[in-house]
Amino acid sequence: MKNKEINSQRIPVYRDAGFELFDADTASEAFRKETENQRVPDLYIYSRYRNPTVVAAEEEIMKLEGSEWTLLTESGMSAIDITLSVFQDGNSIKPWLFFNEIYGGTLSFAESVLKKRRGLDIHYFSPQNEQYDLHEFESVMETLRPELVYIESISNPMLIVPDAAGVIEIARKYKAKVIVDNTFATPELWKPLVSGADVVIHSATKYLSGHGNITAGVVCGNDNELMKAAVEYRKLTGHMLSADDAYRLHDQIQTFSLRFRRQCVNASVIAGLLGASKRVRKVWYPGLPEHPSYEEAVKLFAGNGFGGMVTVDFKGNSGSEKKLIRDGFIKAVSERIRIIPSLGDPRTMMLPVESVWGAKYPEPGMIRLSAGFEDTGELTGIISSALEAISSL
Ligand code: PLP
Repeated sequence: MKNKEINSQRIPVYRDAGFELFDADTASEAFRKETENQRVPDLYIYSRYRNPTVVAAEEEIMKLEGSEWTLLTESGMSAIDITLSVFQDGNSIKPWLFFNEIYGGTLSFAESVLKKRRGLDIHYFSPQNEQYDLHEFESVMETLRPELVYIESISNPMLIVPDAAGVIEIARKYKAKVIVDNTFATPELWKPLVSGADVVIHSATKYLSGHGNITAGVVCGNDNELMKAAVEYRKLTGHMLSADDAYRLHDQIQTFSLRFRRQCVNASVIAGLLGASKRVRKVWYPGLPEHPSYEEAVKLFAGNGFGGMVTVDFKGNSGSEKKLIRDGFIKAVSERIRIIPSLGDPRTMMLPVESVWGAKYPEPGMIRLSAGFEDTGELTGIISSALEAISSL
């Protein structure tokens, strides 16, 4: 969308709560057509329903994911709510299968909302030794016959990459719908709809907006009926993104590919530096041949990169020694790398894993790093001098 009347490169920010409908007949026609739940209406009515600035930003994401339609929402969690709700049918309680190495908020949503409040039959599929086994998956599909399968393209914090194209193929064989949260891989590494997924979700709070200054979500797909159901659910639950956030997202997406490619380079540099340190027990990065998902990542991401996340476990003879080394590293980098519970920002940031995941990952020496797109040389200097500082601890 371009503003044809003004010689501007930018898109207009339409902050209208309600749009002008001119006369009674136009109003009647607009409301009649509203029941069709198109993504782009003939006439805008109300910004909670649809908004032209939001539509312009949606168009940018359609290009990235290669989707027929995209809906923007006010958070990644609302994108998850919309997606999982449109597959619900009040009477049916067929099983749904979630890969269980997925975002903690999604697991809590499945347990607290889908299972406890809505009475759905939720099941989980676990990896063995940090790997999802496709044969095991097929036998679960055969016995459980779920109507829906939910996966993430890269898990968190162990960065497990499933053979997602294989998962989709098997799910199709058993007529199950596949939803992919592609937040971590992004369309730069893999486009799930092209591989046959039914819906792709993003927390656009992360790489798509990429500056840590917007909370937003994405739902995209190719099925028009699904889109209409999602448009209606977004309208009725008020999960709409604001025009201001859509404007900024639209602008920031222009640099997405550039940013993410640098983040992939920086993450692999961080992984290499950490892996070479005597103070490090283990590094998780899907681009390392020793990572349990290396083969899956090579196959799925086809040379596009391995993502911007790295997890490290520092060495120690005891829990307290590991903690000492971890805290020494955190202190040594703290001028430039901060503890921030998000990812995909311009600057590299980190999270002590035990503090966030608790009993699920109780390793006191572990830190998850989200590579930024700062200068690679500068980042190398920061990490190298921190590793130097902890070598004497
Ligand atoms: N999906 C993934 C993979 C995430 O990491 C997150 C948040 O961290 C979400 C979804 C939820 O997104 P938001 O925080 O934008 O609601």
